[in-house]
Amino acid sequence: MTLLETSNTAWVDGQAVQPKRTFAVLNPATGETVADVGDSDEVTISAAISSAAYAFASWSKTSTAVRAEHLRTWADVIEEHTGQIAEIATAESGKLFREARGEVGAGLAAIRWSAHVLESAERTELPAPSPTRTHYTVKQPVGVVACITPWNFPIAAVLVKVGAAVAAGCTVVVKPSEETPLVASALAQLATQAGLPDGVVNVVATSRPAEFGDAIASRKEVRAVSFTGSTRVGKLLYSQCAETVKRLSLELGGNAPFVVFADADIDRAVDDAVNARFYNTGQICVGANRFFIHDAVYDEFATKLTDKVSALNVGNGMDEHSDLGPLINRRAKNHFRSLLDDAASKGATITTGGAGDDDSLFVDPTVLTNATNDMDIYSMEIFGPMACLHRFTDDDDVVDMANDTDAGLAAYAYSQDADHLAHVGSQLEAGVVGLNTTQIFASELPFGGVKESGVGREHGHDCLDEFLEIKSVALETGDA
Ligand code: NAD
Repeated sequence: MTLLETSNTAWVDGQAVQPKRTFAVLNPATGETVADVGDSDEVTISAAISSAAYAFASWSKTSTAVRAEHLRTWADVIEEHTGQIAEIATAESGKLFREARGEVGAGLAAIRWSAHVLESAERTELPAPSPTRTHYTVKQPVGVVACITPWNFPIAAVLVKVGAAVAAGCTVVVKPSEETPLVASALAQLATQAGLPDGVVNVVATSRPAEFGDAIASRKEVRAVSFTGSTRVGKLLYSQCAETVKRLSLELGGNAPFVVFADADIDRAVDDAVNARFYNTGQICVGANRFFIHDAVYDEFATKLTDKVSALNVGNGMDEHSDLGPLINRRAKNHFRSLLDDAASKGATITTGGAGDDDSLFVDPTVLTNATNDMDIYSMEIFGPMACLHRFTDDDDVVDMANDTDAGLAAYAYSQDADHLAHVGSQLEAGVVGLNTTQIFASELPFGGVKESGVGREHGHDCLDEFLEIKSVALETGDA
C-alpha cells in the first residue's frame, strides 16, 4: 500500500483509527476525489487528547538526547518518503510538485533544528543571594499541545509545530485543514514507523473544525494551542482559550507591503516581486499584497513585472512546466474575482491576467496598476496570484502607507542606499522584514507577526520556548 492509500484515517495512540463518517478531499486541479477521509467526531477527538495526555507522562521525562535522536530518525524516515509526501500534498492542495518537495525539505530542516536547539539548552544559574541559597531556573514542557494547521503549507506547518513541541517534551494532537488532511496523517504514520512512542503524535481530521476548537478549549489537559491560519479563526481561538488560560501561539494573516524606492535595482526588485507574489500561486501569508512603487520607476517596474508575469505557465502541479497551480477551492476563486472586479470598478488597470470565465479553479497570474487605498485589495488579504501596484512620490509618506494595516507579518523594501534601507527596515511594523531580498525563512531566524498577525514565534534559537514553562527554584542548604 502507498502512503496515500493509508493516510485517509485519523492517527491516535500510534494506530490508524477510522471514524464512521468520511468526507471527500478533492484535487483542486482536476476536481477528482483524492480520498474519502475519516471525519473525526467528538469521540475520536477526545481519544486523541487522552492518548496525548497519557503519553505526556513518560515523554516529558525522556532525556533530551533520546528525544533528539527520535526526532532525527523521524526526519530521516520522512526524507526517504519525500516523493510520496510531496505527491500527496500536490494532489490535495494543488501546489506544484517541486514546491511540495521544497516544503518537505523546509519541514525536515525545522525538525532537525528543533533537535539541535534541544541539545543546546542549558540550565540557568542565577547569582547566589547568600552562601547557603542557590537560585536557578529549569524549563519544563507545558503539556499536551493542540496544533491547528492551514492548507497552504500542509507539510511544513505540521512539521515546524510538531518538531518544536515534541522536542520540548510535549505531546501533540494535530488538526490539519479539512482541505489537506492526508499529508498530516501520513507524517504521523511515519512518526510511529520511526519509533516515536505511541500517543506522542496524534492526528485527527474533521470537516467540522469548530468542534475541534470547542473540544480543546474545554479540555484542561490541553495546555497550549499552536495555530496557523486566518486572523478570524485565530481571534476566535484566543477568546475560547481564555476559559482554561492556555498558552497560545498564533501565526495569522498578513498584508505585506513591498516598497521599491527610486534608487532600487529594478531588475532584482521585479524578480523578487514575482517570487513574493506568485509563489504557491499567491496563496502565502507573507505574500506581497500591496506594492508601493516610486513614481520615478513606476512605469519601468510595471512593464517589466507585466512581461515576466505574462510568461508564467498555469497548470497541474504535477506538470513540470507549470509555474502556478489552481486556487484551493471555489470560495478562493470567488474571492479573487470579487477583488479584481472591485479594483477594476474603482479605476485599476489590468495589465495582464484575469480570473478567467471557465469553471476550473485556475486563474491567470494578474498585474494591476493604478491601485488605490479605497480598493478591497488594499485592506484584504488577496491570497491569490494578483500583484497590485500603488504609486508614491514621497519617501517619508510611504512608510506610513506601508504600516496602514492591522496586519504586521512580513514587509519588503528595495533601495541601493544601505543606510536608508536600514532606517526604513526599523520603521516597518512587521515581524519579518526583507531588505533587498524575499528570502526571509531560515532556521535561525524567528518567524511571526506583530499587531493582528499573531502572537509568538516559530523557528529561531528560542523556538522551543513556546512549549516550555519556566520554573524558578530557590534551594536553601542550611547554615554556611
Ligand atoms: P483558516 O483559519 O480558515 O483555517 C486554518 C485552520 O483552522 C484549519 O485547520 C481549519 O480547519 C481550522 N479552523 C477553522 N475554524 C476553526 C475553529 N472554529 N476552531 C478550530 N479550528 C478551526 O485558514 P486557511 O484558509 O486554512 O489558511 C489561510 C490563512 O492562513 C491565511 O489568512 C494565511 O495568511 C494564514 N497563514 C498564516 C501563516 C503564518 O505563518 N502567519 C502561514 C500560513 C497561512
